[in-house]
Amino acid sequence: MTGVTVQGPVERGRSPRWVEVPGGGTRTFGTCACGLCSWDLPIAGEPDFRGAVAADGPVWWVANLSDREPLFVADVDRPGEATAVRPGERLPFGYDMAIVTPAPEPGALSLTVFATVAEPPRPLVARCPAIRPGSPRLDPGARYYAVLLALCDGAPTSAAIAARLDMSPRAVDAHIDYLVRKLEIPEPTLRRNGWKRTALIAHARSRGIVRDRRLARTA
Ligand SMILES: [Zn+2]
Repeated sequence: MTGVTVQGPVERGRSPRWVEVPGGGTRTFGTCACGLCSWDLPIAGEPDFRGAVAADGPVWWVANLSDREPLFVADVDRPGEATAVRPGERLPFGYDMAIVTPAPEPGALSLTVFATVAEPPRPLVARCPAIRPGSPRLDPGARYYAVLLALCDGAPTSAAIAARLDMSPRAVDAHIDYLVRKLEIPEPTLRRNGWKRTALIAHARSRGIVRDRRLARTA
C-alpha cells in the first residue's frame, strides 16, 4: 500500500469529493457548516465529526480530532462490526476499503477509505508530454476489479452485483465511484441515472480491460 484515498459522502447524482493521502502523508476531514473551514476534505453537515487519515506503510491510521465525540471505522462489508476511535485517539487499520462514520450504524454521513494500489515505478526517461498515458493500472485482485467484471458481465444493479460478490450494495456503489475516478471518466453534462455504469462498461470494453475476464475470474 502506498497511500489511501478518502472519499466524501455520496450526494445523489453527483460525484463525491475525495482527497488522496500519499504514503507518509496525513489529510484531515471534518464537518463544516460555514464553508470556510480548512479541512482537506470538508463535509457538509452539523455533527462534530472530524479527524485525520494518515497512510503509513502497510496500514493507515485514523485520528479522531473531536474532543467530545467518538467516530467509527468498519470494513465496508462488515459495517456492523465497527471499531470506535475515541476523542483524541489514533488507531491503525488494514482494510482495503472501509467506512468512517460519526455513529456506529452507518447512516447518510460516511466517508469511504480505499487503500491505493502501488503505482508502477517511474521510468528513468521522461515520456513525451504530447502522448497521453493509457488507463491507470487496475489491480485484477482488487474487489473493485470484480465489480467491474460483474458490471461488464451484465449484472445491472448494485443489489445483483452485491449478491454475486457477497458484498453490500453500498460497497458496490463505492467501488463504482472509485473506478470512475481511477479511470478518469469525465462526468457528462447530462447525468442520466446509471451513467457511471454505462460509462464504465463502455470504457472497459473499448480499452480491452475486460477482454480476458474469463482468465481473470479463474485466477
Ligand atoms: Zn466551517
